[in-house]
Amino acid sequence: MRILITGAAGFLGSHLSDRLLNDGHKVVGMDNFITGSKDNIAHLADNENFKFYKHDISNYIYLPGEVEAVLHFASPASPNPKSPMGYFNLPIQTMKAGALGTHNTLGVAKENNSNYLLASTSEIYGDPLVHPQTEDYAGNVDPVGERAVYDEAKRFAEALTMAYHRTHGVNTHIVRIFNTYGPRMDLEDGRALPNFLKQALLGQPLTIFGDGTQTRSFCYVDDLIDGIVRLLHSEQHLPVNIGNPDEITILQFAEAINEITGNKAGVTYLPDDRSIRDPQRRQPDITRARTILDWEPKYSLEKGIEKTIPYFKEKQGLV
Ligand code: UDP
Repeated sequence: MRILITGAAGFLGSHLSDRLLNDGHKVVGMDNFITGSKDNIAHLADNENFKFYKHDISNYIYLPGEVEAVLHFASPASPNPKSPMGYFNLPIQTMKAGALGTHNTLGVAKENNSNYLLASTSEIYGDPLVHPQTEDYAGNVDPVGERAVYDEAKRFAEALTMAYHRTHGVNTHIVRIFNTYGPRMDLEDGRALPNFLKQALLGQPLTIFGDGTQTRSFCYVDDLIDGIVRLLHSEQHLPVNIGNPDEITILQFAEAINEITGNKAGVTYLPDDRSIRDPQRRQPDITRARTILDWEPKYSLEKGIEKTIPYFKEKQGLV
């Protein structure tokens, strides 16, 4: 297949490009680098099966040649209010990537009669009132809250994707991605894993926002990509949660990272503005992925973090 991936220079887009190239496909990558990085795709520069266009997908996409699949992964995604790359600081670009970018990429899929996969998010559940989150839970999102620029853009994107499926018969798929980590994450984007691992490798205390009782479930990137590829090749049109169902508190997560890295500096509690709008519990129900895709994560937290450490050491100049 010839496959278009938007956000190809991002953390997930670049891993997806690698996986689909390895599977024998040709990949056309697109990114405008507002949050993606050239480093993430530098190794593909001489790959004759990879072609790259610098383009902002919220503008019309002119794509020479046919494609058999379109995977829409372009969007700012970090919830860190202090990061210039976070969606709090790119609110309009975030809404445009989810709304106009989804419209444009669906247009490419319709024109090419191709397969389509939307990267959606656990954020569409907002601060969930149902736990764990199943795909039929409609979510708890404040449309004018600060996270809304991301959450509502992705909710709109899901609605538009279903509209193209129902109206035009496009072969669409929607993955709801839960917290994922691994090599090529941006060290500066302020998320829990990059912050914690960076701090642990420098022997510093890990910064817990709030009291650390909020929960997440962390998935290693290779597991996530495998679920996405299975979904792409499936007949499933309704959303599918892909994530690791092992729920842990942020304090337990920090302690695990200190243990694995041998960091003796412990943790420090910070009153952060994140804590007032932070989802308190998050855990995917992956019954649908297990049943329909025969998928479940294989990496333990320990194994995943060990695979991530060399990348962090290199980026921090520690090797
Ligand atoms: N967090 C933290 N310290 C940090 C960064 C994040 O305690 O240095 C917390 C954050 O408040 C949230 C959780 O870790 O409760 C996960 O945050 P992340 O940014 O990784 O992603 P989110 O799940 O909020 O999208």
